[in-house]
Amino acid sequence: MILLREHLLAVTRKLSEAGLNRGTSGNVCVRVAEGFLVTPSGMSVEAMTPHDMVQMDFNGQHGKGKPSSEWRFHRDILAARPEVGAVIHTHSMFTTTLACLRRDIPPFHYMIALAGGDSIRCAPYALFGSQALSDAAVSALHSRKACLLANHGMVALGRDLDEAFAVTVEVEALCEQYWRALQVGEPALLSAQEMAEVMEQFKGYGRWKQE
Ligand code: 13P
Ligand code: ZN
Repeated sequence: MILLREHLLAVTRKLSEAGLNRGTSGNVCVRVAEGFLVTPSGMSVEAMTPHDMVQMDFNGQHGKGKPSSEWRFHRDILAARPEVGAVIHTHSMFTTTLACLRRDIPPFHYMIALAGGDSIRCAPYALFGSQALSDAAVSALHSRKACLLANHGMVALGRDLDEAFAVTVEVEALCEQYWRALQVGEPALLSAQEMAEVMEQFKGYGRWKQE
């Protein structure tokens, strides 16, 4: 368990080093037997130690420390998606910029498929830490590995912490590309048929392999 606490902290640090989270923005969880470990609330990553990671069960009971204010969506995503082992939430620059426009990201680039389909949905606005935000996130994530949260940020999922980190990095890159393309014109979109071919091509491709 200490190893998992250290891994959770290492990924939280990596998010900060990569500029994907700043200050106390964002949070991360990883599944454990009978529940999950989640980053503490309102603590800067520099101050965090492995012992600050908070253990929770699916009833919302927790061990020592104050869990992330977003523990509800971490819990509800893990409960709804048995294949998911880790959840990352960021306020990264480009995903958050587009989330403030409350737009879904359309299939302007084939790599959108890595998020599980032909769009990355933007969940409707709800107060941070609320059950309404959790419900909105779970529904926007249906058959997807990422979504935007209106006027807030993004959520990325993975089988494990490393995959969730990789999805976070790719989604931020896609949002930057979409944002840049929008500065020049209206990006051309791939058709449903073209995206179906991409999904097929991704089967068996490296870490994005679809089960
Ligand atoms: P916590 O510090 O409570 O995890 O909150 C950060 C955040 O991003 C809330 O949405
Ligand atoms: Zn947040």
